[in-house]
Amino acid sequence: MKIGIIGTGYVGLVTAVGLAELGHQVIATDKDINKIKKLEQGIIPIYEPGLEELFSKVRAKGLISFTPDLSAAIRAADVIFVCVGTPPTADGSADMSQIEEVARKIAENLNNYKLIVEKSTVPVKTSYWIKRTINLYKKTEAIFDIASNPEFLREGTAVHDFLNPDRIIIGVENERARDILLKIYENFQDKILVTNIDTAELIKHASNSFLALKISFINLMANICEKTEADIEQVALGMGLDPRIGREFLRAGIGYGGSCFPKDIKALTKIGEELGVEMGLLREADKINQDRIRLFLEKVRRALWVLKEKRIAVLGLSFKPNTDDIREAPSLKIIGELRREVALVQLYDPKAMDNMKQVFPEEPPYLVYHPTLYDAVKDANALLILTEWDEFRQMDLLRIKNLMANPIIIDGRNLFEPSEIRKLGFEYYCIGRR
Ligand code: NAD
Repeated sequence: MKIGIIGTGYVGLVTAVGLAELGHQVIATDKDINKIKKLEQGIIPIYEPGLEELFSKVRAKGLISFTPDLSAAIRAADVIFVCVGTPPTADGSADMSQIEEVARKIAENLNNYKLIVEKSTVPVKTSYWIKRTINLYKKTEAIFDIASNPEFLREGTAVHDFLNPDRIIIGVENERARDILLKIYENFQDKILVTNIDTAELIKHASNSFLALKISFINLMANICEKTEADIEQVALGMGLDPRIGREFLRAGIGYGGSCFPKDIKALTKIGEELGVEMGLLREADKINQDRIRLFLEKVRRALWVLKEKRIAVLGLSFKPNTDDIREAPSLKIIGELRREVALVQLYDPKAMDNMKQVFPEEPPYLVYHPTLYDAVKDANALLILTEWDEFRQMDLLRIKNLMANPIIIDGRNLFEPSEIRKLGFEYYCIGRR
């Protein structure tokens, strides 16, 4: 069996490399020719720990190849994993145009039986639309099946997650499709849950929305902590020790970002509403998340009063550590607001600066990127921490204090113990604790 991967972004590329590592022959394509050119030369276009090494390994074994020709990739493949984007539209629903485009291409190139696997996160009932589209446009009698195999990898640990899955969800409507996917994932037999397609599609949206809900819940509790003597870190610990609740995803901060949670919670809200289901619970979680930025900026103003021409160091641009992805990162809105108020913004991130430069080009003295965090904090009137990179946890605080004009830290990720950092002479503001 030859596996085709359509879309070589964060999910598609990791899936392609991961499936090759499992021993499958993979051909991957993307409509972004530059990406394919880089991959053909052995260059990984994104930062993802461990991906480069694994890519080199499977490439050397001849298990992975790339082509800019979508039709050729479809014709060559027996199983096609669709990994294109499903970004949000203005009303919050998922934009399905990339999926539709791929479905039409598959129809045009359906030269023999193919299993088409939805890997992208899609609304429940998408398989119906893919099937209808292929049937409308196909030119041969060749048959096909659709399956849903949602992806649960997390950026930053994507390679590890692919090779050590908690679960593999396989949504199918017949045995042929089921058996093909069971064979592809035969190394992970004890992790597989087979369902119908609607269920598999919904599991993905439900999982992401539930995690987003958990984060918004703890952020709501942080708001209460800030009005009382309660400490959010201890509240989270006390709650998380209950195994029914669990400790993960109970970190208060400036809210969730990234290309998944914000869009998936909105998409599921829209799906529910269209089906006549009251979705207030998810709408509220999304609202709480959006309000995190306003509350954080209030802290910044409380510390600095006027922002105009204040030097503000911003550490952390990616939406979370160990990735260069800035999609829906809280930093985007915060930097936008600092720019609007004409602050002098000094930025640093270990991996995401190139991506951020596409959104906010350098504009001295109002916006400057720095090669190290110590350069970024020089002469700053305040330091904002927006991403919990280990590098920031381990920074030399005394050196930072000596470099800054005013030793003020506004920490959106609760990296430090307030009492200890204050002992070093910092004015320190964090989330949900004093
Ligand atoms: P991405 O934007 O990084 O990658 C999508 C790729 O698809 C791009 O390279 C784009 O050029 C390509 N593409 C778009 N239209 C195409 C077409 N017609 N033909 C060929 N290629 C095309 O997105 P991503 O982060 O990899 O996410 C992909 C899907 O996986 C989304 O539905 C997302 O919700 C889901 N997902 C993402 C993550 C994550 O952490 N990023 C995790 C799980 C699921």
